[in-house]
Amino acid sequence: MSESSKRADSPGMGHTRRGGKGVILMMFLSLLALAVLSLFLFIKVYEQEQALARLTGQVEKLVEVLQAGREEPDNLPGGDVLEGGDTRQGDQGIPGKDQEETKADSDQEGRGEEFPSEEDGGSQAMELGDTEEVTAAHKVYLTFDDGPSIYTDEILDILDAYDVKATFFVVGKDTDRAREAMREIVARGHTLGMHSYSHKYSQVYASLEAFEEDFVKIREYIYEVTGEESHVYRFPGGSSNTVSDLDMWLFADYLEEQDVRFFDWNISSGDGGSQILPVETLVENCTKGILGRETNVVLMHDSAAKHTTVEALPTVIEEILAMEDTAILPITEGTVPVQHIHREE
Ligand code: ZN
Repeated sequence: MSESSKRADSPGMGHTRRGGKGVILMMFLSLLALAVLSLFLFIKVYEQEQALARLTGQVEKLVEVLQAGREEPDNLPGGDVLEGGDTRQGDQGIPGKDQEETKADSDQEGRGEEFPSEEDGGSQAMELGDTEEVTAAHKVYLTFDDGPSIYTDEILDILDAYDVKATFFVVGKDTDRAREAMREIVARGHTLGMHSYSHKYSQVYASLEAFEEDFVKIREYIYEVTGEESHVYRFPGGSSNTVSDLDMWLFADYLEEQDVRFFDWNISSGDGGSQILPVETLVENCTKGILGRETNVVLMHDSAAKHTTVEALPTVIEEILAMEDTAILPITEGTVPVQHIHREE
């Protein structure tokens, strides 16, 4: 009696048991709900990450295009110059360019006549094992400035397709994509040259110390990324640029001390200007006068703003390869340098 009354008196016990089951069920359901929610969130985050990666890629491309467009690398003091008394200069003429650029063009043209031939090249790159190097009467060195860019891969594929080697004068680009492109350039047997780290004229040429700092930065960056030491350099704007207030020999001497040789060009594709040149013009510019010279260094740009350069490249290569006694080669330490500035006697 007392037992039953006890039971009756304690109705809570039965509730507790049922309540216990209820709590467990609730907990289970909650956990399940949490698990489902987590999975859902995980999928969402994953999707967002993918979307973000796509966007980042697009932004990276866009930034590169914008920067390339704005900087107009090398076009200021001589990058885009049509060298060597081009009769089409007038109609091709980079219309809409400002006075400064026009002035630079004519400056450069005048200078161009100072280095039309390299007959003085007695010490002809003998250390290269390449037989073509030794025998070809006309040597053509295709050079690409300002990369890596979104077009580096495409350029490399084209060069591979024709089995020719070129030279890339790169700047400091701190992205995985750029680093990968630099490694590819080396892996596929091309020459990786330096073109300053910042490519900002005002910084690079501010003083010898500033030049040194920038030089060390790009040299070490290339070594860090590729494991290769670069020994060739192209001055932003060329050695004949008109932006440096300091004598360019100050920097050239420094490079020599560093066992680095600088290279200008004696054929300009003309793609350094703000205008996008048509393919035919680029082909004509890049192939002009080769048979009249022993050493031809062709200036082109590996830049997001220069798509026609990539389009023109196959034809440029085909036309050069079709020329008699002519070889396309990468610049090496033994290559006879083409330089715009000369030491005063
Ligand atoms: Zn440049």
